[in-house]
Amino acid sequence: MIKKFIRKILGVKDDGRDPTQAVILGPDEHKIDPRNVSRNAVTVTQTLQEAGFKAFVVGGAVRDLLLGVKPKDFDIATDATPEQVKRLFRRAFIIGRRFQIVHVMFGQDLLEVTTFRGNGSDNAPKDEHGRVLRDNNFGPQHEDAARRDFTINAMYYDPATQTVLDYHGGIEDIRAKTLRIIGVPEARYREDPVRMLRVVRFAAKLGFTIEPTTRAPIPVMAPLIDNVPAARVFDEMLKLLLSGHALACLKELRSAGLHHGLLPLLDVVLEQPIGMKFVTLALESTDGRVKAGKGVSPGFLFASLLWHQVLEKWNAYRAAGESPIPALHLAADDVLETQTENLALQRRIATDMRDIWAMQPRFERRTGKSPYKLLEHPRFRAGYDFLLLRCESGELPGEIGEWWTSFYAAEGGEREALLAAANARPRNGETGTGQKRKRPPRRGPRRSNAEGAASAQGGGEE
Ligand code: ATP
Ligand code: MG
Repeated sequence: MIKKFIRKILGVKDDGRDPTQAVILGPDEHKIDPRNVSRNAVTVTQTLQEAGFKAFVVGGAVRDLLLGVKPKDFDIATDATPEQVKRLFRRAFIIGRRFQIVHVMFGQDLLEVTTFRGNGSDNAPKDEHGRVLRDNNFGPQHEDAARRDFTINAMYYDPATQTVLDYHGGIEDIRAKTLRIIGVPEARYREDPVRMLRVVRFAAKLGFTIEPTTRAPIPVMAPLIDNVPAARVFDEMLKLLLSGHALACLKELRSAGLHHGLLPLLDVVLEQPIGMKFVTLALESTDGRVKAGKGVSPGFLFASLLWHQVLEKWNAYRAAGESPIPALHLAADDVLETQTENLALQRRIATDMRDIWAMQPRFERRTGKSPYKLLEHPRFRAGYDFLLLRCESGELPGEIGEWWTSFYAAEGGEREALLAAANARPRNGETGTGQKRKRPPRRGPRRSNAEGAASAQGGGEE
């Protein structure tokens, strides 16, 4: 009883851990391979330490190092203020408003240096739902640790002494493959609802289990995500979809009761037999590319996720008497308009999506110069990959995709032969876009011609 009282006064939690004291682990215990620590991260921590400051690798990088994975980027935490950090490096920029951080650049490599945040967030400006709007209160390291999201993301590594500082039992949670939020889950989600998306992403990416009290409030608190600026939600969704574990993430989102409203109508899409197959194939291919270290275009990804909405509207416009190409553009406009509002799709991504969609009817025109022109389209590769997904999902006959694969790989004379063969064959699989009169390319919000739309848009190969 007395012990409990003393603990309470000292702010020691009932699990017996004092959140102001770190457990310090040496190389024998944490087994981090120093070769996985980037040179630039060492340069930054060393420079700061030589100037008399504390400096550590922090967050996701420490988590990955402990898991034996080479981190993709390194974040540094220090007790130097952003101005003090900036003065120590040649190419350093203070950025951010909600959280001021310093970007330190070494060639192409960028390191984020953050000053320890204090727990003054009680006084930080908040919106009417309790979301913290701005937080630049600096404080001691143990407060910085308590302000981080999950125990496994709240450890510090000092490359100089090769020690890990763990304030919240992160090391045990890493070993047990557990995602546990620091503090009272409801309060932490209220301060920043994006943490609900982060927990899902990490669970899927790392194959960890979400600890029950961390998980329980999510379905109830999910609507708070609606109050987060759309651009921030979009960034997080993009991270999720490009994590290399997108399919697992979406499953996890569903089971945590989180996908409603994030990708509007995704439920509808996922429940259609063809749509489901299409989205699954698209995400599998995205995951495969990410895991193989290849680039993925967000435009391609969102074009895939929303294709069945476009198809549905395209069919509806055609049924209402619109000709195929204008109908496709009207459908694309409708879908992009809704999604731009809900998802804050950046203009560049929306342009890519429209390009990919607008190219689709052109793949069905296998006469004259059309296929040659399509090959020269700057986004041909993306349009072609998309076509293959449509064939694979059963939306189009496989023959069209196979024909384009041959045509793409063929040389001069062979191409003519392929064209002749395509024209000799009855065109049963085609959706009836046929040969169209050519018009000069046009720019504008609503295009009446696929040819114009496709060639008016630029964009390089992926
Ligand atoms: P990733 O592998 O995706 O980069 P990460 O853990 O490094 O994972 P970042 O978004 O780079 O994620 O954030 C770096 C660190 O900052 C996190 O590990 C965590 O400690 C802290 N952090 C990031 N976002 C939040 C948040 N919304 N609330 C609290 N702490 C956060
Ligand atoms: Mg990171």
